[in-house]
Amino acid sequence: MGYVKGLKCKECKREYPKQPIHVCEYCFGPLEVDYDYEAIGKVISRKSIESGPASMWRYKDLMPIDGEPRVGLHVGFTPLVRAKNLGKALGLNNLYVKNDSVNHPTFSFKDRVVCVAISKAIEFGFDMVSCASTGNLANSVAAHAAEAGMKSCIFIPDGLEAGKILGTMIYGTQLIAVHGNYDDVNRLCSEIAAHHDWAFVNINIRPYYGDGSRSYGYEIAEQLGWRAPDNVVVPVAGSSLITKVYKAFKEFEMLGLLENKVTTKVFAAQATGCSPVTTAIKNGTDVIKPVKPNTIAKSIAIGNPADGYYGVKTAMNSGGWGEDVTDEEIIAAMRLLAETEGIFTETAGGVTVGVTRKLVEQGRIRPDELTVICITGNGLKTQEALAKSFAAPAVIEPNLHSFEEVFSNSLTV
Ligand SMILES: *Cc1c(COP(=O)(O)O)cnc(C)c1O
Ligand SMILES: [Zn+2]
Repeated sequence: MGYVKGLKCKECKREYPKQPIHVCEYCFGPLEVDYDYEAIGKVISRKSIESGPASMWRYKDLMPIDGEPRVGLHVGFTPLVRAKNLGKALGLNNLYVKNDSVNHPTFSFKDRVVCVAISKAIEFGFDMVSCASTGNLANSVAAHAAEAGMKSCIFIPDGLEAGKILGTMIYGTQLIAVHGNYDDVNRLCSEIAAHHDWAFVNINIRPYYGDGSRSYGYEIAEQLGWRAPDNVVVPVAGSSLITKVYKAFKEFEMLGLLENKVTTKVFAAQATGCSPVTTAIKNGTDVIKPVKPNTIAKSIAIGNPADGYYGVKTAMNSGGWGEDVTDEEIIAAMRLLAETEGIFTETAGGVTVGVTRKLVEQGRIRPDELTVICITGNGLKTQEALAKSFAAPAVIEPNLHSFEEVFSNSLTV
């Protein structure tokens, strides 16, 4: 059995039983999973974790499920890459990249939240799963629903990248593109949720869903040799991941698993074309002003972020900051990561790399500090963003002469 006591309102602390609900009836605050840390502390240790599976389920005792996970047994435990070349380019001597662009099975960090959400949906007895998605969540919900043998109906804004659309359809789901942006889709889904008894992974299952991303933070700490980093740069959409990565470090500290005290500065990274959270941070307020997204970083284009207030709080209370980058800077950063480390990330990864560059220039991240950049998605899914960046490859006849002609030509460019 798991160690979940129930749900608890993040604001008024009122307690609720384990149910598919996400909002406090009294104060409308978000509900969070309430764990029995005392019991967890008795069973969990570095050794117990290290002897677990090479997946996020090595932290099963900290996941909000009862019993065994039902889907996604191979999700997580992605590489933490020592990024010497990128560090050199950015002026950082102690830089790491946490690479969820190769997460199994759908190549983004969303697999971490979805395998928890769908396991929970099965525990609750749902036979239908759904979500509002900017793309990666759609891929992951469709894949895990297929694995679970469940039906799924998935909502996206129209105009998403081809890889995100095909990468959802392939799993045999009902995919519906809504005319509008993510915030329109999300509003519609809340309405649909009131009429259909479905498990919406990021609506009625949201408290459990969000806690899956704590595994990303646990892995960073474990892979650093049971240490929390000095800085972590996190891409922000709805602001779930940024709050959970920090929570993960604090939980490990509380459970006595870390070598150091958590003094991690958390930096929020957004695209300038959709930056309600970093704008609030820069303006010194925790009041989020919703925006209409206009950026190539579609996976993190949420103009009215559900947990935006907590995202701002996490960055500010940790001593971090927020910064944003233009579409041109995003593309340049995607290319820089690929050319220095051989890692092809999607636009959201261009955002975190580009923002890190800015933070170094501003002196907010210092050269010798241990810094982790979050790479949360795969570049093959957002190829449109690079459409204008490269000419077509040279086409030659299959003979040496033809090759030498092209080769010397390319050298004189
Ligand atoms: C969803 C997503 C995020 C961040 O999501 P939050 O809603 O802030 O938790 C970051 N990167 C990628 C690639 C994503 O798909
Ligand atoms: Zn409340």
